[in-house]
Amino acid sequence: MNQYIWIGIIVVVFFVGIGISYAHFQANNPSNFMGMNPQQMNTMMNDPELRQQMMGMMMQNPEMMQAMMGNQQMMGMMGQPVKQISVAPSTSIPENAKGPAIDFEKGYLVQEIKDGLYWLTDGSYQTMFLTTGEGVIAIDAPPSIGEKYLQAISEVTDEPVTHFIYSHNHGDHIGTASIFPSDATYIAHEETTAKLTSSTNQNVPIPTVTFSDDYTLEVGSQTLELSYKGPIHTPGNIFIYAPEQKVLMLVDVVFPGWSPFKNLALAEDVPAYLDAHNLILEYDFDSYIGGHVTRLGTSEDVETQKEYLQDIQDNVQLAAQTVDFFAIAQQTGFENPWLLVDTYLDAISKTCADATIPDWVDRLGGVEEFTDEHCFSLYESQRID
Ligand SMILES: [Zn+2]
Repeated sequence: MNQYIWIGIIVVVFFVGIGISYAHFQANNPSNFMGMNPQQMNTMMNDPELRQQMMGMMMQNPEMMQAMMGNQQMMGMMGQPVKQISVAPSTSIPENAKGPAIDFEKGYLVQEIKDGLYWLTDGSYQTMFLTTGEGVIAIDAPPSIGEKYLQAISEVTDEPVTHFIYSHNHGDHIGTASIFPSDATYIAHEETTAKLTSSTNQNVPIPTVTFSDDYTLEVGSQTLELSYKGPIHTPGNIFIYAPEQKVLMLVDVVFPGWSPFKNLALAEDVPAYLDAHNLILEYDFDSYIGGHVTRLGTSEDVETQKEYLQDIQDNVQLAAQTVDFFAIAQQTGFENPWLLVDTYLDAISKTCADATIPDWVDRLGGVEEFTDEHCFSLYESQRID
């Protein structure tokens, strides 16, 4: 049983309090609004759209959030709490989950993996690009990194971006693709192209090259093999493989050192998501770019996550055998069926999570946060897929 603590500063008020002028706000530079007076803050507190934008930015940048919460002046401006939330105390993060330090002022880290292939990360999102001698191939454009992507590229080469690849269509990974030249070649799987074309939300370049199964991109000295192996995370998500450097990129599937994001990272096809671990391991790679969290991965990380998910599958099966539906029904009655179902599903998830977490808390980061949701997704998949 976790011990919960009540904290005095509260997310609602927190975000209200920092609802500062968007114009005054520069991402990754909290000092810009540290100097605002309470009146300026008040003025802007009442704009729900600004608050929403702020919250999105902060959720993408935990370091920024920490910096602000540590600032007495900021916290002092936030007025009286209007709503309290309970927060579970954070457990220590396993060594295995830690990655290289990110320069907070700079906002990103760029490192060559091998032979002109670079990975780029802000500590939360990650991607890669390649220099070819004839132009840069960029993959994805996470808004949390934004225009700093261009800065990172210019750190290592004068070549312009001539090619861009969409790993899949989700805006949190590709939302700032329009920072690249409009005359570049934009490449995506046909499902991704279809989604981007019909989206009213996304304002990114429509792919000019679309493929259905496999596509080999050769530019200058570099080769990338793009491959579609069906919907895993979402229809259109592709494997991006650099055979010379032995680097594989597949986004939102494996999270090196960490539990996947909740509900198997929102996998749209759970059986395919589980099987994807085997598809990944068919590749010969030294480095894996998963699109998220702290560090690069290896095949060992893929094996580890596969083992974690197998444990959850075993434990959710056991939970389904031991949690007594009719005992719960005696307490909830049948008048409100959703109350009964919700109570039953919660009991299964909790039983499964309680059985899983102790074995994993020292091996992966984030298991206390998301294991119960993985239990739920795997239970539902066993029931309906
Ligand atoms: Zn995604």
